[in-house]
Amino acid sequence: MDVPEIITCVDCGQKAHRLSYPPEEGWQDGDIVAYRCSGCMDRWDLVIGEGDDGGRDPEAIFDFRQWLQDRNS
Ligand SMILES: [Zn+2]
Repeated sequence: MDVPEIITCVDCGQKAHRLSYPPEEGWQDGDIVAYRCSGCMDRWDLVIGEGDDGGRDPEAIFDFRQWLQDRNS
């Protein structure tokens, strides 16, 4: 699991540096990584694995359901 050292703050576009140190066993899904923005000084707590559904695309799922529906009608 790769966790970036620096992310871009979604509020101000400045760089946010990681506060958390990597755990000995490495980052795992569900771990919380804290960042501090150098621009607005906001703290960001990101949950690893959130928003990344392993490549599942909600629109593709929707299309598939629609396709099944069309097929059954
Ligand atoms: Zn910021």
